Amino acid sequence: MSTTSVSLSDQDIEEEAERLYSELKNVGWTYEDCAIIAPLTLEINQIKKEKNAIILAHSYVTPDIIFGVADFSGDSLGLSKKAAETDADMIVFAGVVFMAETAKILSPDKTVVVPDIEAGCSLADGITAEDVRKLKEKYPGIPVVAYVNTTAAVKAEADVCVTSANVEKIVSKLDSDKIIFIPDKNMANYLRTVTDKEIIDYDATCVVHDNINPDSIEIARERFGEVVILAHSECPPDVLDKVDLVEGTSGMKKYIEEHPEAKRIMLATECGLADRFSVEFPDREFIGSCVMCPYMKRNELRKVLKALKNPDPEQIIQIPEDIRIKAKKSLDKMFELGQ
Ligand code: SF4
Repeated sequence: MSTTSVSLSDQDIEEEAERLYSELKNVGWTYEDCAIIAPLTLEINQIKKEKNAIILAHSYVTPDIIFGVADFSGDSLGLSKKAAETDADMIVFAGVVFMAETAKILSPDKTVVVPDIEAGCSLADGITAEDVRKLKEKYPGIPVVAYVNTTAAVKAEADVCVTSANVEKIVSKLDSDKIIFIPDKNMANYLRTVTDKEIIDYDATCVVHDNINPDSIEIARERFGEVVILAHSECPPDVLDKVDLVEGTSGMKKYIEEHPEAKRIMLATECGLADRFSVEFPDREFIGSCVMCPYMKRNELRKVLKALKNPDPEQIIQIPEDIRIKAKKSLDKMFELGQ
């Protein structure tokens, strides 16, 4: 019998362990590992129903969260949009704080909580609203394009938001030869190669993608022979120059779905994505990057349970309404231009 606050029989736990094992065995979990977390995932899933809550899990969090308790997993904006379409009263966002803010911007009437308030992001934390105001003063009249990996306050200062999936399309559509692109310096460099815009960039990077070693691409090609290498556009130019395709997370998934002949795929992005895809595409071999996001990995099942059951006030996302409305305008502009 278990020690959780919900009543569980040995059979409940056994069945849950089997369910978890059927997915997690693809990423090296044993049945015994699954049996250990089974009471916790059962309790979370039970409380989720009682509170009419949903759990969103970004692709970079650990697979026990993605396959054990999440209702939706994927990239940050896609998750926030899906959550807004549900009638849930509460959203637990297993990701990083700026993502939960995006969910709150799109779902102001839902309670949005994060498992760990310290789950930051080097991009989102690399620029403030005041920094953007200074850029606008220095370059008056130049549109500000903000990557979604920014805080609500920064989004509120921008003209339009973009994701890694739609950045090229939206920037190309803007009626200006020059743009201010914040905050990712690497993505700004990538944009220079795929659009004809003059780009004023900002000096922030993702600590994960910026640390992917370009030598690892050459080593993978030598070692694995036939391998397709996909890289995230947050990677530095010396990595992007060597890969087969530059895409965001959803674009990578689309490529894999549309190319069943690609049997061995290297993902130059956060290593958790290789785990997620190994479960979702068990007939393929995925080679990860060995670079982990320290912020994403702050999410744990026990913290998800705490956030769901009894969140501390600081775990509940609050955004001043004037900022939320302005930030939503930047997101709406993205939805309009991204069609
Ligand atoms: S992987 Fe990079 S961009 Fe994503 S949350 Fe971590 S630090 Fe931020």
